[in-house]
Amino acid sequence: MFYRDFPIAYDEPLFRPPSEADSLILQVTFGCTWNKCSFCEMYTTKNFRVKKEEDVLKEIKAVAKIEPGIRKIFLADGNPMVLSTQKLLVILKAIKENFPKNRRVTTYALPRDISAKTHEELVELREAGLKMVYVGIESGDDEVLKLMNKGETYSSTVEGLLKAKAAGIKLSVIILEGVGGMNFTNQHAINSAKILNAIQPEFASVLVLSFPFGVNKYKERFLGEYIPMTIPDLLKEMEVFISHLQLDGTIFRSNHASNYLVLNGILGRDKQLFLEQLQFAIKNPEIAGLRAEWQRGL
Ligand code: SF4
Repeated sequence: MFYRDFPIAYDEPLFRPPSEADSLILQVTFGCTWNKCSFCEMYTTKNFRVKKEEDVLKEIKAVAKIEPGIRKIFLADGNPMVLSTQKLLVILKAIKENFPKNRRVTTYALPRDISAKTHEELVELREAGLKMVYVGIESGDDEVLKLMNKGETYSSTVEGLLKAKAAGIKLSVIILEGVGGMNFTNQHAINSAKILNAIQPEFASVLVLSFPFGVNKYKERFLGEYIPMTIPDLLKEMEVFISHLQLDGTIFRSNHASNYLVLNGILGRDKQLFLEQLQFAIKNPEIAGLRAEWQRGL
């Protein structure tokens, strides 16, 4: 529904995961506390700050007056989990009171922000409505994580995500294909599969590294030598990644606009099917290439 005078003053740009397309987006923080990943331009125009609690509560009440039946809410921007548990609980309580039909609250999170909370705090947040966190793992390879300046390691990521999982908070994680370039493609693929195997997230997706400001800008920000990858290289990286996955029941998607080949299913059930689709695409790169050009509107 479109409202001419929607009562939320968004500070743009505003981002949300594709699966939150029909959710109310509540901005409770602005930007990202880290803001240094070499591939990420999401919040480079903003300095991190916390939205005043009274403003967030005012917006919740104002939206509830015109749309009380909202069922999904996403907390923005980049890492609202950095807020104290007490602050998050105030927001979650207001959501519960004002949107009685709401089924879930979700947010982006950094592993270190999750690790900074105790198990009891995470359980309290889940009970108050925080059902799932979206985490950009990007890579399971420590060397690649360092070169992209992620500020996390394999261990810190596993620690944070298993802690969320132990508290009953669902995980939706993202791996970034091509992020290490040709030099690191194998170790990136193998260790990204390894980290997912260790975490067993409920949802996982793969995006392909893109260059909104050109490949040279990325090369400058990448802390090593970045050698760009072709479409067949990226498909091969995906094949290595999928072949090393041992997941029990993860809903897996590579259906973002950046992906060259759409894979959509459940892993491990669909692993062999995905591998066959990848092998076909590798042998017929012109088909995958055509899709990529179509997606980019060329
Ligand atoms: S932590 Fe996330 S939002 Fe922040 S700079 Fe890195 S990728 Fe971007």
